[in-house]
Amino acid sequence: MTARKPLTVGPAMADLPEHHPVLLILDIDEVVLQFIDPFVALLAEHDAGLDPSGFRLTGSVHSLSTGQALGADRLKGLMHQLYEEQDRRQHLVPGVRAALDRLARRADIVFLTAMAPQWHATRRRHLDAVGLPYPMIATERDKGAVIAQFYETRQRPCLFIDDLPSNLAGVRRSAPATELLHLMASPLFRPYLPALPAGVHTACDWHEAEPMVDAILDRMLAQAAL
Ligand SMILES: [Mg+2]
Repeated sequence: MTARKPLTVGPAMADLPEHHPVLLILDIDEVVLQFIDPFVALLAEHDAGLDPSGFRLTGSVHSLSTGQALGADRLKGLMHQLYEEQDRRQHLVPGVRAALDRLARRADIVFLTAMAPQWHATRRRHLDAVGLPYPMIATERDKGAVIAQFYETRQRPCLFIDDLPSNLAGVRRSAPATELLHLMASPLFRPYLPALPAGVHTACDWHEAEPMVDAILDRMLAQAAL
């Protein structure tokens, strides 16, 4: 069987509106919408619990009554339920909307989510309903590859924010000119966070992240003006 080509849904990065000289690219789960806390709450509804110490989901979720690890299919089913019901389960990360309202005056904003593209319409409706109308790309491709492709057509400086060190490392590899910031809304996994690539900025919440983003944008705008 031939492997299916990874899907991407949403506007092409090269077609994004260009109102500002810099682009702010945001992951969604754990950066814009809460993911870990609502997932843990959903697990509890299904008599399951999560051990964060391995910094992964597979193999880390166990039945509370039997101690048995939940298999990949069961986990996938629960993840689907979370995304299906995201409008009532995945609340905004505190402070994100006000921060993005302000940052949108200085930078173009695009969401880049690794969520399966089948949930694109559900997520789009949810983001619109909570006042986040920024364009969204849902992809199964490596985020680094998507951003690297953007640089092939546009030379705008980019800042990328994500909660997963592997995504930040992928962007560092494939699009090394990108400024990187780590932000993970839930504190649950933080003690077990793998090492971040060198030079990645880190923030614990949007209260801390917004002035950091502002400072990085200042620098990027100054460089863009040279
Ligand atoms: Mg994420």
